[in-house]
Amino acid sequence: MTDRIREFLRNRREDGPCVVVDLDVVRANYAAFARALPDTRVFYAVKANPAPEVLGVLAELGSCFDTASVAEIEMALAAGATPDRISFGNTIKKERDIARAFELGVRLFAVDAKAEVEKVARAAPGARIFCRILCDGAGAEWPLSRKFGCDPDMAADVLEHGHRLGLAAYGVSFHVGSQQKNVEAWDGALASAAAIFEECALRGLPLSLVNLGGGFPAKYLQDVPAAEAYGEAIFRALSRHFGNHLPETIIEPGRGMVGAAGMIEAEVVLISTKSDDDAMRWVYLDIGKFGGLAETMDEAIRYPIRTERDGDAVEPCVLAGPTCDSADVMYEKDPVLLPVSLAIGDKVLIEATGAYTTTYSAVAFNGFDPLRSYVI
Ligand SMILES: *Cc1c(COP(=O)(O)O)cnc(C)c1O
Repeated sequence: MTDRIREFLRNRREDGPCVVVDLDVVRANYAAFARALPDTRVFYAVKANPAPEVLGVLAELGSCFDTASVAEIEMALAAGATPDRISFGNTIKKERDIARAFELGVRLFAVDAKAEVEKVARAAPGARIFCRILCDGAGAEWPLSRKFGCDPDMAADVLEHGHRLGLAAYGVSFHVGSQQKNVEAWDGALASAAAIFEECALRGLPLSLVNLGGGFPAKYLQDVPAAEAYGEAIFRALSRHFGNHLPETIIEPGRGMVGAAGMIEAEVVLISTKSDDDAMRWVYLDIGKFGGLAETMDEAIRYPIRTERDGDAVEPCVLAGPTCDSADVMYEKDPVLLPVSLAIGDKVLIEATGAYTTTYSAVAFNGFDPLRSYVI
């Protein structure tokens, strides 16, 4: 926790769970990415945390923005980004949203299917497209499955289709899975990207861009490699597959940019056991899966949890949220170690919660407010 967050929480008077985001950490993370990959442009993935202050600081530092909807495009513009610094990176877009983005000046669109290419060709004539390819997500704690991307073998056809319809076939993108702890994870996808570049060149369509996606981790319970290690591994893989003809590259960090910048403060509402024979304590907080901690789904992301009683003896506890939905249990298969002395009313700090918390928080499910956010 940073001193600024500690100080802010000491003076906070409002009730209820909240996340506090320290912009100094966002600035430091941006600088680390810029240093690690000096020839790569940063397109911050807005969905990770779209707070206007976060977008504003990043826009000022020179960041570009990866957006998934017209609303996110408008937020990036409001933060001071010009449209040439915005990509519409969602492969699943309504044609009228593509048209709106085009009206707003956006000229760079993700596609992964011919039907999507046709929408872009009609609604954003002449725009640049990059084709997203499937990536298995091995090594990621939050893999992105098969929802996005086409088989690499199909990518040249998708891009050529765009070219025939008057679009600029611009490049290839992929995402190696979020919270990717293997710095070598980019290698396989870059081999595929290089093969697509070659195939497109043979068809008379020289490509320019490789969009390396997100996946850069935040530190939760376990240590993660530094941005520098990712930069080195990615540069090696680029050189291996593209030789002396390195493509233009961009990265789209979300979690790695803002995860470590945020901290949630929550409160213990109840501590109980389920039977006289079962000593396992259930600790219920005033925040859970619907209040911002959705990434605890399947216990995928394990946040570090701190209490004022750290240092006392600990025991494993089930950790759950406050709503009346039985899915609102965060850690049960693999319980968390919490102080035996923890008591109802205690404050609990949940670390590294700057990414995918406010945006994943339900609006008043069960009457609980969405997660309150302070950016300092
Ligand atoms: C969500 C998303 C990202 C950000 O991923 P992180 O793992 O949080 O860095 C980047 N690119 C696209 C297209 C995304 O959908």
